[in-house]
Amino acid sequence: MRVQFWGARGSIAKPGPSTARYGGNTSCIEVRSARGTLVVVDCGTGGHSLGQNLSAGAKGLRGHILISHTHWDHIQGIPFFAPLFVPGNEWDIYGPKGLGQSLREALAGQMQYTYFPVTLDQCGAKIRYHDLVEGTFDIDDIKVSTHYLNHPALTLGYRLEADGVAVVYACDHEPHSRMLATGHGEITGQDLRHAEFVNRADLLIHDAQFTAEEYPTKIGWGHSTVEYVVELSKYAEVKRVALTHHDPLRDDDAIDRLLASIRARLRENASSLDVFAAVEGQVVEMAPSPEKGPVRRAGEFQAQTPIEPALAESSVLLGIVDTKMAAAFSEVIRAEGIHVEFFSDMDEARKLIAKDRPSLAILEHDPPRIDGMETCRAIRQQDNDHEHQLPVVMVASQEDQASGAAAGVTDWLIKPFTGAHARTKIRAWVLRTACQWMRGVIPEDEELARPPCMSGGRPWLKRETKIGASRKM
Ligand SMILES: [Zn+2]
Ligand SMILES: [Zn+2]
Repeated sequence: MRVQFWGARGSIAKPGPSTARYGGNTSCIEVRSARGTLVVVDCGTGGHSLGQNLSAGAKGLRGHILISHTHWDHIQGIPFFAPLFVPGNEWDIYGPKGLGQSLREALAGQMQYTYFPVTLDQCGAKIRYHDLVEGTFDIDDIKVSTHYLNHPALTLGYRLEADGVAVVYACDHEPHSRMLATGHGEITGQDLRHAEFVNRADLLIHDAQFTAEEYPTKIGWGHSTVEYVVELSKYAEVKRVALTHHDPLRDDDAIDRLLASIRARLRENASSLDVFAAVEGQVVEMAPSPEKGPVRRAGEFQAQTPIEPALAESSVLLGIVDTKMAAAFSEVIRAEGIHVEFFSDMDEARKLIAKDRPSLAILEHDPPRIDGMETCRAIRQQDNDHEHQLPVVMVASQEDQASGAAAGVTDWLIKPFTGAHARTKIRAWVLRTACQWMRGVIPEDEELARPPCMSGGRPWLKRETKIGASRKM
């Protein structure tokens, strides 16, 4: 596989003399399999140069764009991506499925008359849109797995496997555990799931916008620290890691210094991990490894029912005592078109779980005022369907991974958090639960013709590769 970086900056394009070496354009990478399949991951302002490069003399261009999320720095290049305007070209655009708006609607939003002179529907190329959830599908000879990241917008990470080589793109993402962001603590729970997703990648391209020192003022912004990404890569036995989504305030010299200190520390620890900071224009070639072949995953979904009815029936169980917080949660959940169920005691909770099979439970833990762990244990006693276990998100001021794991907590929401972060977490869990039960189909109006690779629908990922129990990092 061949990877080329066309934009490595985070948040906002930052051209100028101080960023000339690493580059000022926002996220965009080009991936080519040995057979020539073209996949673009994110289309920030770097997409402009990539588009010019691809358009030079090319007719009948066939390509695929994977969008991690629709924040500006990941989509701003789309209106300027020349191959989309050439009749005869054919593109498939993929991105996370929202709960209300579709991917096409989200992308069309930035091209409304007020903001841009050409609408998305006026693009000359034939474009198909695909709303994705967590799962696995094929793009020609490339196997693509998706995984929700931790960011204040619904965001997907992509794992691309072809020619026996795996490339993982994870932007934008903040570790679930705040301790991990500082480069300490244990990889458990949802952070372990993330480590499994990047496991043994030949190249990991990871958000590393901040440093551990900067992190205390950036909590909840949805980005990783350099220290965390290095520890994650070591833990998950990644071969090479490209730090990317460089902070707009970090100039070239600062990135050099950061890299030098990381490499010095890795040498001290005799680590073989290869760390570099992504440079705009840089090419990384990975020789095919035919003996490994792409990793195939089991667990295709059998049901033919579309995901929308499952979402329409979704409900969230709220065990929040703090009235202000309960009202805020309820507003956020209802805004997503999801039903809210409150309970005041375990009896009521048991009845609601049995009757409505909620998609998610959100519990408050603030002892001695309220013991969410006890409630979680009680839920687990009743909810013994391990195949389709009710996800429980614990809202607390501090995470307690050990007690949480013992009580059966699935995920944490650590105070203080923003409404956007809570909303994204709820969205991701509701979508995951719905997809656990049934296979999604591509909405009729989203696609003119279904590519043959997806004719069987999208089987959702069930992990075969576990990297063992958590351990200290
Ligand atoms: Zn970003
Ligand atoms: Zn973002």
